Amino acid sequence: MAEDLRGDGRLQAQWARVRARLREEYGGPAYRSWFRPMSLVEVSDGCVRIAVPARFMRDWVAQHYGDRLRALWNAENNAVVAVEFMIAAGAEPVETSAGRDAADATDLKDVSASLDPRFTFENFVVGKPNELANAAARRVAEAAASPGRVVPYNPLFLYGGVGLGKTHLMHAIAWHIRRENPARRVIYLSAEKFMYQFIRALRFKDTMAFKDQFRSVDVLMIDDVQFISGKESTQEEFFHTFNALVDQNRQIVVSADKSPSDLEGIEDRMKSRLGWGLVADLLPTTYELRLGILQAKAEQIKAPVPSKVLEFLAHKITSNVRELEGALNRVAAQAQLVGQPITLEGTPEMLHDLLRANDRQITIDEIQKRVAEHYNMRIGDMSSARRARAVARPRQVAMYLCKQLTPRSLPEIGRKFGNRDHTTVMHAVRRIEDLRVTDRAIAEDVELLRRMFER
Ligand code: ADP
Ligand code: MG
Repeated sequence: MAEDLRGDGRLQAQWARVRARLREEYGGPAYRSWFRPMSLVEVSDGCVRIAVPARFMRDWVAQHYGDRLRALWNAENNAVVAVEFMIAAGAEPVETSAGRDAADATDLKDVSASLDPRFTFENFVVGKPNELANAAARRVAEAAASPGRVVPYNPLFLYGGVGLGKTHLMHAIAWHIRRENPARRVIYLSAEKFMYQFIRALRFKDTMAFKDQFRSVDVLMIDDVQFISGKESTQEEFFHTFNALVDQNRQIVVSADKSPSDLEGIEDRMKSRLGWGLVADLLPTTYELRLGILQAKAEQIKAPVPSKVLEFLAHKITSNVRELEGALNRVAAQAQLVGQPITLEGTPEMLHDLLRANDRQITIDEIQKRVAEHYNMRIGDMSSARRARAVARPRQVAMYLCKQLTPRSLPEIGRKFGNRDHTTVMHAVRRIEDLRVTDRAIAEDVELLRRMFER
């Protein structure tokens, strides 16, 4: 039996408290986008039913906030053990335009997310793992800022693991255009925010304005598109916007954590469309790149960090650049606080938690083992003299991965592969680099293997 809500101030009071908690926990913008449009329908048989105005909104809140909502409800009312979301067009609260928040206003400035002033090309340290992505981003930025509307590749698709510089490069594109040609309209936003905007537009029955806004830009950049996986209507909208912009020769830049073909929950036509332009990956950092980044950052924050300490950090913190920066900042801050110079001896103590997390260094042995398993070959053949293609190619893949994923030098790697010469390793690395471009199967193998070592 459903409890009648109109007569039940108790349930409404519980709902109000749940909402207050949600606002506290998730903050104003998320609250406005997701929770405020919700309305309580009924509580019956231990289930709270909550209405939201759109289908993908239901999917999103169920997936991201469902558990939390259930827990909060249960804390208020222990009869509640489940939460169900339903779609009801009339669910949105009636709002006059005067009652809208400033954040609900939809001109370009608000649509675009703010840019981090540190994320410029000047501050981006370039090395082997990111040189293609960097060059492509620069090219796009320069073309978009130039008087003729040249679009070198559309879209530019940047992908790579967490903290490798995707967002940094996108902001850098925007800063460059803003500086060189302020008249150009550039929108940068996360795919999640794109969804917010879309939902807001639906809610205020403003979809025309929503479309116009996006379709009148010179450069549209959407960060982390993996977030719209499974959200069919948002994908649909994105697809149309995308096509309209491409038709008008406007630049699009997209980032994701995977290559277009590996994105899950994205429609096939969208995947293939995303792969039409230039696809550039950001590979895991190498020791050299990490050291270069640390040197640049230390100079930026004017921290007197001995080079031995920088080298130590570059060796030890291999996961991603964000953590690397965090480690450097911590060393610098602590040294300043206690008023002592930074030393190699003092560093491990300061960073013990970070170091423990990064301790799992990938080893050559581990790579050989995984690659051998992947190709169904004997691990002994990693170091054997056999030259048949069936063993030689996987061996090259393993060498390539060792170069990419460990701080070991070419001669060190060669030694571990049956005392081969460093030039053999170098040749293998180059060969696989080439094959990754021309041979789909190899590209996929490498990608798959690389992912196995990521955390
Ligand atoms: P992603 O979006 O790929 O997860 P970010 O662009 O947010 O990663 O980068 C994480 C942090 O690392 C940022 O502070 C960024 O400035 C920094 N960073 C990443 N790569 C580089 C680089 N090559 N040079 C300088 N800083 C970098
Ligand atoms: Mg990012």
